[in-house]
Amino acid sequence: MKVHNLGCSGGLAEGLFTTSFLLDGRILLDGGTGVGSLSLAQMNQIEAVLLTHAHMDHIAGVAMMLASISEQREKPITLAAPKAVLNAIQSHIFNWEIWPDFSKIPNEQTPILDYLELKPQQTTELNGYSVMPLPLSHTVPSFAYRIEQCDQAFCFFGDTGPTDLVWQVLNQQPVSDLFIELSYSQEFDELAAISKHYTSQTLIEDLAKLEIPAKVHLMHLKPGAEDRIIEEFLARSQSLPHQFDLCQKINTFMV
Ligand SMILES: [Zn+2]
Ligand SMILES: [Zn+2]
Repeated sequence: MKVHNLGCSGGLAEGLFTTSFLLDGRILLDGGTGVGSLSLAQMNQIEAVLLTHAHMDHIAGVAMMLASISEQREKPITLAAPKAVLNAIQSHIFNWEIWPDFSKIPNEQTPILDYLELKPQQTTELNGYSVMPLPLSHTVPSFAYRIEQCDQAFCFFGDTGPTDLVWQVLNQQPVSDLFIELSYSQEFDELAAISKHYTSQTLIEDLAKLEIPAKVHLMHLKPGAEDRIIEEFLARSQSLPHQFDLCQKINTFMV
């Protein structure tokens, strides 16, 4: 599987784009502002979007992409997520006030958007991939996705602070790669606790729960603080058996 990084920043600034990854050119993993780097032709190749949660930095690009391709689309794009995430999007975004309801455009019979409800901790076949949402611990319902195809598997995390269940599942059903957030340095541990994000220390503590070594790709670092966060994290993570790298602008991972 080819996972292409379209955006991996925890915020917006010149040259930085928020969370969005493209799986094999067909499936979007979150749809932050990174989606804006795709051509119209690439947008039209997208079959489905897996949303980890409904926060703006993970959905803004998808909402605007639908408007860009609404006249060209022949088949609907499937927005897939557990019910709590879909409810938030339907109630607060695609409600004709913030943005149109694309599940009724151009008409209800042949819309450009449809929804697929995924059950937490259950595997669903989505366009050739086995997808399992795993609940995390964030200020709103947020999920990691364990994604498997042809005996290869990785896990893509939504925003979270310290959590347990996902590690228990990944110890039973291992993956080779994790894409996971690291939002704050330890200096901002109170803010991280309130907003339910990882700091370098809390992520290290959680990664110690993962018994099988993995390649860990770090993302969602706060703009302007990237060097400090990563330096602190690498200095503290020496005892862990995992390999680490930082998701950089526009790079591709084979998993
Ligand atoms: Zn976020
Ligand atoms: Zn969030």
